[in-house]
Amino acid sequence: MKNCPRCQKPNADDASFCSNCGYTAPPVNTAPPVNTTPPMKNKGNLKTVLIVLGAVLGFCVLGVIIVGIKETISPTPKVETVATPPPVVKVTPIIRDAAPPPVVKVTPTTAPTAEAGVTAANFAKIKTGMKYDEVVKILGSEGELLSENEIAGYKTQMFQWKGGFVSNMNATFQNGKLVSKAQFGL
Ligand SMILES: [Zn+2]
Repeated sequence: MKNCPRCQKPNADDASFCSNCGYTAPPVNTAPPVNTTPPMKNKGNLKTVLIVLGAVLGFCVLGVIIVGIKETISPTPKVETVATPPPVVKVTPIIRDAAPPPVVKVTPTTAPTAEAGVTAANFAKIKTGMKYDEVVKILGSEGELLSENEIAGYKTQMFQWKGGFVSNMNATFQNGKLVSKAQFGL
């Protein structure tokens, strides 16, 4: 007799299942199955794990090696930072309008005070109120009549005398008397 492991009801020794609850008992008298698979499985698992790890490691190593080889074979081009020179700022000289050549003043070393001529000294001698004839005497030459007009009884004449080089002077007379004078370059 043996009791059902589930309901504890006594059953026949050779009963393959419980008569009360129908529990099927495991076969009796059979040696407990030697569970050889678990260790095998574990071993296998360990093996696979090791294999996988090894593979991974191998791949890693391989990758590193490949990368290393690649780097040694074709090293990444070094980006040489060539210092580009700063743009040359061309300082173009500002060419100002060419200054006119200095006017060479032909000034007599000794002022010919006594001499007649269209000179600065003689120009200075010409005074307002002088007559045209007096001016001609000082300058030593007749003037060139530039303009002449008569307005409201005032006769105005403008004479010009050419001096040395580009110099000249003029004198304006009203009714025969000098009222204004001007010179250029004397
Ligand atoms: Zn039972």
